[in-house]
Amino acid sequence: MLQKITQNSKIVIIGGGTAGISCALMLKKFHFKNILIVEKNKPTKFMIGESISPVMKTYLLRLDLYSDFLKQNHEKCFGSCSYWGSDRMGYNDTISHTGAVGWHIDRKKFNELFYEKAIKEEIEILENSTFISSKKNFKNQFELKISKKSEKQLILADFVIDASGASSIFSKQQGVLKKIYKPLVCISAFFEKRVLFESKFTHIETCEKGWWYGANLPNEKSIIGFYSLGEIIQQEELHLKNNFLKLAKEMSIFSKFFAENEKINFELKTFYAASFCLEKASGENWLAIGDAASSYDPLTSLGIEKSIVTAIFAAEMLLELSKNTIQDVMGFDKMIQQEFQKYLKFRNYYYQKEQRWKDSLFWSNILLVKNFV
Ligand SMILES: Cc1cc2nc3c(=O)[nH]c(=O)nc-3n(C[C@H](O)[C@H](O)[C@H](O)COP(=O)(O)OP(=O)(O)OC[C@H]3O[C@@H](n4cnc5c(N)ncnc54)[C@H](O)[C@@H]3O)c2cc1C
Repeated sequence: MLQKITQNSKIVIIGGGTAGISCALMLKKFHFKNILIVEKNKPTKFMIGESISPVMKTYLLRLDLYSDFLKQNHEKCFGSCSYWGSDRMGYNDTISHTGAVGWHIDRKKFNELFYEKAIKEEIEILENSTFISSKKNFKNQFELKISKKSEKQLILADFVIDASGASSIFSKQQGVLKKIYKPLVCISAFFEKRVLFESKFTHIETCEKGWWYGANLPNEKSIIGFYSLGEIIQQEELHLKNNFLKLAKEMSIFSKFFAENEKINFELKTFYAASFCLEKASGENWLAIGDAASSYDPLTSLGIEKSIVTAIFAAEMLLELSKNTIQDVMGFDKMIQQEFQKYLKFRNYYYQKEQRWKDSLFWSNILLVKNFV
């Protein structure tokens, strides 16, 4: 049975990432009065993921964040250039196609922008607090068990929004399965220098073992990432600086930089990049947004945008529920599934375009594995 939703209903959002905070900001705009974000860390922590497309302007405007975003001086990005499927460089140039620019963002600052706006809007955030489990009470509300260090507390919710990122913790506890595609492991090097000189493009290049990504970041910094399968990273010990550097130096996009910089300091970090979709991203008085609902290959550079789009749509659904113009949130799930199908087409198209090493461990496996967990 559905719990009736009004603008006074208690809405609990699990996760204070881009998706969670965007959803809370939209709900606040729609005059929902009782919003709580539960975040297990601090929402302003460091995160990977820095390329965003020109389309983001529209969403930042909707969240009233665009002018403050511009003040943060993120690095402009004019599109991408890549060696993908051929040793001739191809361009996807947003500035000459649309006149619009994207950005390579300072992700920590970007997260701070959302967090500060939430504080300004007096949205309640329980920081360093972890959602553990939930059950329904006799009024059909969720009783959420939250832990902060050794303290435990129960919080009542009329509606729960799972914005817990790729863990999808709440949705999984509702018994929903995930359709999982082959995940990538990313080894990223962070430089206090410009690796790609004055280029305002994202640089991408494939090799037998996976693909490389390079971008200049704000404040004269830059990032190089290598995306591959976990087993290849392990076999080749690419988490070790020397091995990483040796492979990076073979890439055309970085060769000039490494030729001119024999010794260079950088920090290496490893990230897991999931690719999955929940079988069902909504249920009775709950829904999942952002990476909790579906997680895309970083090749798309769509994760941040998707987290905001799904957050806005979720808030709109709650508004419609409160006005009784819809009876459930099934339409939300439909949108998540349709967008995931579009993403799969994009992913398949790009990975199949690279045929030069089609029998290698990476390229022969990347599109194969599919599992339900
Ligand atoms: C290697 C890599 C590179 C990427 N590059 C890009 C890129 O260039 N461009 C792009 O757009 N996207 C990129 N992405 C994707 C992008 O970072 C994500 O899609 C985006 O961060 C999703 O936002 P979210 O709010 O849904 O999830 P998250 O940012 O993961 O936020 C989830 C939040 O939930 C909290 N949480 C989790 N469990 C609990 C719990 N039990 N209780 C309370 N809180 C909890 C977490 O602490 C976290 O703060 C990249 C991802 C990876 C892995």
